[in-house]
Amino acid sequence: MEKIDKRLISWASILDDKTREQAITTAKLPFIYPHIALMPDAHLGKGATVGSVIPTLGAVIPAAVGVDIGCGMIAVRTQFTVDHLPTDRSPVRDAIERAVPLSFGRYNRKVVATAEPRIIELEALAERAGFDPDSYTGSWRLQLGTLGSGNHFIELSRDRAGNVWAFLHSGSRGVGNKIAQHHIAVAARLCKQWWIDLPDPDLAYLVEGTDEFRRYIAELTWAQRFAALNREEMMDRVLRQVGEWVGTPVVEVERVNCHHNFTKREKHFGKDVWVSRKGAIQADEGRPGLIPGSMGTASYVVSGKGDLLALNSSPHGAGREYSRSAARRTFTHEQLREAMAGIEFRDDAAFIDEIPQAYKPIDRVMADAADLVEVRATLRQLVNVKG
Ligand code: 5GP
Ligand code: MN
Ligand code: MN
Repeated sequence: MEKIDKRLISWASILDDKTREQAITTAKLPFIYPHIALMPDAHLGKGATVGSVIPTLGAVIPAAVGVDIGCGMIAVRTQFTVDHLPTDRSPVRDAIERAVPLSFGRYNRKVVATAEPRIIELEALAERAGFDPDSYTGSWRLQLGTLGSGNHFIELSRDRAGNVWAFLHSGSRGVGNKIAQHHIAVAARLCKQWWIDLPDPDLAYLVEGTDEFRRYIAELTWAQRFAALNREEMMDRVLRQVGEWVGTPVVEVERVNCHHNFTKREKHFGKDVWVSRKGAIQADEGRPGLIPGSMGTASYVVSGKGDLLALNSSPHGAGREYSRSAARRTFTHEQLREAMAGIEFRDDAAFIDEIPQAYKPIDRVMADAADLVEVRATLRQLVNVKG
């Protein structure tokens, strides 16, 4: 732990100068209370740093949640151990890729039965919040149950005891993106209208008590729920495929679903604040959480330790060390294949920028996070499906 500025505390032993500068800039905003907690996986983001916890008093910065509102992880521990699994894993990868489309365009042409109750819940939630998600995009119903591209992924993994887990990463898809972009633009317009001098235009904020603030919180809350249900829907489809592959339906031993891009009201150091975690998970004492490493390294099921200075938070992954373009310049397809030896994955040069070496070493990140979380299970992937 390192106190960098009056309002910035860092747990990152790997932190480049630009990221440090960006976090300091955010920390100097007058409505930060009590301080920004910079997580071990911190790296440069748009406006606010990825891997940071940003508590604000009476205001909220829409870009501090990011454009994938509610992005996060879900994991299920199944009753299976590795011995139950057929040796050829390519059929299950194919089946998962068919059951969970990347985007709504190709496969999710109609709402599938399992998604229906979730859609009804979201319709009711939108109605109570007094807004119409159709005004952003009429296709949000078809987006529910789709993975998205980039580093959204689905994995089958094993823990050290041999238990088989399904593990996936996704968020609020196109509809969440539109909601985020809209409110980021509203905040920028209002700050301009009131001659507010911002250190970075992406740090534009909304002030509590205004209609714009209320609208943002209502729609953000909806997008967060959409993201959580999107993960549930995909997980159910994945488990069905796993059950068919093994020949026995999956029985769930445990399910964990957590956001790593979200805002919620919490009490810290005596005050009610809006806590935005941008690439960070909530880690109150005993709370289960998920920390993925990369497509070819360990990932972790954790339990929070409730560190007060860290604002009950922990890292959400390894965090990028190389930008996508730097990774493509630095690493080769051959290195990607080496890093993925023994894992059933889609062997495609498009994933060079997702090579494990493009991320910070997860062991180092977990060592930095030793006061923030306790490791309950260490997962290694058997199958990786990348978005
Ligand atoms: P973000 O949500 O900021 O886009 O990234 C989440 C984290 O997921 C990354 O920091 C990285 O540590 C991890 N990650 C990225 N791709 C994969 C993958 O294919 N498998 C696993 N297990 N983790 C990944
Ligand atoms: Mn995302
Ligand atoms: Mn994410």
